[in-house]
Parts: sequence; structure tokens; C-alpha cells
Amino acid sequence: MSERKRKASSTEEPVCVLCGRADVDRDICGRTFDESEIRVHEFCLIFANIYFEERPPWEEIVGLPLDAITCKVKQANQKQCCVCGERGAAITCAERSCERSFHLPCARDGECISQYFGKHRSFCFEHRPRQVTQEAPAEGTNCLICLEPVGDSLSYHTLVCPVCKHAWFHRGCIQQQALSAGSACFQCPSCRENILFYQEMSTIGIQIPDRRPSWEANDEYDPSLERHRHCDASECLYHGGREYAERRGPWQLLLCSSCAAEGTHRQCSHLSNTTATWECDGCAGLGTSTGKRQSVLRAALPESVCPKWDGRSHCGATASDS
Ligand SMILES: [Zn+2]
Ligand SMILES: [Zn+2]
Ligand SMILES: [Zn+2]
Ligand SMILES: [Zn+2]
Ligand SMILES: [Zn+2]
Ligand SMILES: [Zn+2]
Ligand SMILES: [Zn+2]
Repeated sequence: MSERKRKASSTEEPVCVLCGRADVDRDICGRTFDESEIRVHEFCLIFANIYFEERPPWEEIVGLPLDAITCKVKQANQKQCCVCGERGAAITCAERSCERSFHLPCARDGECISQYFGKHRSFCFEHRPRQVTQEAPAEGTNCLICLEPVGDSLSYHTLVCPVCKHAWFHRGCIQQQALSAGSACFQCPSCRENILFYQEMSTIGIQIPDRRPSWEANDEYDPSLERHRHCDASECLYHGGREYAERRGPWQLLLCSSCAAEGTHRQCSHLSNTTATWECDGCAGLGTSTGKRQSVLRAALPESVCPKWDGRSHCGATASDS
């Protein structure tokens, strides 16, 4: 009796316990995890604020927190989706006084949004963050991406670039672009600005996956995120917070190439998106300009190289035969 068989009949595909759907777009709900008799979508878990651990290369899940999921399902069964009206809505609006809940796949129809960064907050149609601009599209303005007309004002479906303020596009179109460009190449289709653009689009619910563009290469595991995970810049600009980082682009966390015990988001230290190495102030202040010299110093006097050096080895691969 230890291994019970799945009860679902063979004709019926098992559904996600948090959204009740089987046939949803992977772009919307993420990967599908099965464990014991539970099937659940990656993003349904994340936006229900249930945390789970992953192991590189990020395709393997360590173990679903089954108790937390069961508890959330019970809670959700008391809540009606503000979009489709059915029960089992596991995602709740982050606005304090708001009681609205929804299913992740219903979000778009109901003009609700979820933020794919930081605390992964979600908002109902009333409380979703909105773009602020006085501009409205001129009559006859077309979406820069699909070339079809946009609405006559800012709305859930009609968005504008916050930088050049004259690039208008549909939410669905910029979302598709974000999925194929990935965080490394996501930018305004007109002025090509990528910092403010990235920040504003993710705030209003555009999902910008941390990967190289789909036309280049596939998702790779970045081992630097395994170690120190904190931006130590004097002023951290990442809206998700110092503890969070993206795997590519302006909000990728770089570790000090000498001590690996200090980190910074690229943007917080004014580094370009192509900068791959960086040294913390403590290490850079020693004036060790060549890689060889650094490794000698690091090996001989680790404590003096960086006050926060904690003995972890780093960059051994760069040292040549001695
Ligand atoms: Zn789901
Ligand atoms: Zn619903
Ligand atoms: Zn709300
Ligand atoms: Zn469009
Ligand atoms: Zn622009
Ligand atoms: Zn930062
Ligand atoms: Zn350092």
C-alpha cells in the first residue's frame, strides 16, 4: 500500500492543483511538475508564493513542498476567481486591503498582472501598476511590432516606451518579444533603451526570462549565482531588492573576480551588459592590475586582499602552470 496508483482516469489529463488546468501555454504557467499524486505548474507555485528549491541545471526540482501546496489548495478552495468566477483561485492581489484572487491562466482575460521578479507579487485589474505618462498615441498609431492599430490611450493592452515615449505597442506583442529576446537583449523596439525599459515592463507584468535570445543559444546555468547572492553596491537600484538577481542583463549579479565575497548588480556599479568581470572596492584598491599578480597575492595574503574574504577558492582555472 505504500505506492498508490494515480486515480485520474486514463482519458482525463491530470490538472494543476493550483489553477485547475491541464492545457495551458508553457509561456504562461511555466514547467509542469509531478510528484506523488500532485501536478502543479511552476509559475502557479511561484505566484501562490510557495517556495521550492531547484538544482542546476535548473530543470530538476529537488522536491515539491507538498504540505504547503495542500494547505494552499484548501485556502484557494474558499476563494472565487475574480475573472472566471470559479473556486480554487490561488493567487491573491498584493494590495493590502484587496481580497481579489484569480487563477494564473485567467489573469490576462481579467487584466490582472503578475511580476516575474523579486517578491513575485500579483495585482488585480484595479490595483495593477500602471504606466504614467501624459502622452496618448496620435490618431492612427500602429503597434511597432505587429503594425496593427493600438488603442487610443494607455491601457492594459496598449503600452508605451517610458524613455522615448513615442514607441507604442500591444502588451501581447511586447510579451512575445521579451520571451524571444530574453533579458540579455530585451529593449525598446524603437529607441533601444534597455535599463528603464526593462524595469518598467517587468513592473507592469511583462515576463522577461533570464536567458540569451532564442535566436542565439539556449538557457545556460550560471554557476556564479550559486555562491554569494547579494548586491553590495552602496546604493542598490534593483527594484527586486539586493537579495535578488536576474541571470542575464543589467540585473545580473557579478561577483568580485578576486575575492568572490562581494557582489554587485551590473547596473548598480554602472557596468555595461557585456561586462563580465568586476572587482570590489577592497580588491580594486590594492592596484593589482594583472591577473597573474592578483592570483599570487590572493594565494599569499587572502585576508589583506579583501576584508570579507572567507576562504572560498575562486578562479583557480585562470592560473597557468607554474
Ligand atoms: Zn497551474
Ligand atoms: Zn479563473
Ligand atoms: Zn486588488
Ligand atoms: Zn502589436
Ligand atoms: Zn523607446
Ligand atoms: Zn544592486
Ligand atoms: Zn573583492
